[in-house]
Amino acid sequence: DWINFTAFFNRIIDRFEMTKEQHITFNRLLPDESLYVEIDTDKITQVLDNIISNALKYSPEGGEITFRVEIQDKYLVISVRDQGVGIPKDSVDKIFDRFYRVDKARSRKLGGTGLGLAIAKEMINAHDGDIWAKSTDGMGTTIFFTLPYEEDQEDDWT
Ligand code: ATP
Ligand code: MG
Repeated sequence: DWINFTAFFNRIIDRFEMTKEQHITFNRLLPDESLYVEIDTDKITQVLDNIISNALKYSPEGGEITFRVEIQDKYLVISVRDQGVGIPKDSVDKIFDRFYRVDKARSRKLGGTGLGLAIAKEMINAHDGDIWAKSTDGMGTTIFFTLPYEEDQEDDWT
């Protein structure tokens, strides 16, 4: 589907904002303009659901989650930053592996299978995008992903 990514992302964030039980502040740094992309909305919804639920799951009370969309070259760069427990340096790239979970005891308590980000990676790769993480242990995590974006798309319609 061709959709306006900023409106689509806002609706997903709204859903989490209405149902979240923790005291966590959401910051949205999204452009006002429409940014049209061709995506499988069900699949990208699943990707964002996992990234955002991870951010909530690993965030402390009173934390902030920052949502951002930027245009870089021919891509949208979408990111979700939290102020949670973070990920140790040597694990940051492994979180996209199937069944990988950083702290088995902690993860078991918080539930889940360790498949969410592996599935997210497959789906983003199927969209010709990339997904990666930056984290400082104890200081929070940012998950980034890209989606192909054609900057001058309006011209096609005039
Ligand atoms: P599932 O998504 O299948 O319910 P999960 O959330 O444990 O389970 P992934 O979403 O694949 O699995 O994440 C893999 C692991 O990466 C998590 O178990 C956790 O250790 C780590 N992780 C992911 N996101 C964050 C985050 N925002 N902060 C800290 N650790 C994270
Ligand atoms: Mg998950």
